[in-house]
Amino acid sequence: MVKYKLQIERSLCIGCGNCTFACPEYWEMAEDGFSHLKGSIKVGDNEEREVEDPGCNREAEEQCPVSCIHVFEIE
Ligand code: SF4
Repeated sequence: MVKYKLQIERSLCIGCGNCTFACPEYWEMAEDGFSHLKGSIKVGDNEEREVEDPGCNREAEEQCPVSCIHVFEIE
């Protein structure tokens, strides 16, 4: 079954907020002014989580001006 990995390269985030408007179910602004992926784990400087349905995360990925949100298909 196809699953999806969501990832943010947090060191690249400029804190514009686009992802939180496009996909508030998954994205919120953290206290440091940059985006946080809800329910994620930290992997180095990144945050990641797996989901069965990417849902609005495709919109978040498309609307991020610095392309630091990624939606990968995994097995
Ligand atoms: S859209 Fe991209 S740059 Fe803007 S807050 Fe979200 S992750 Fe950061």
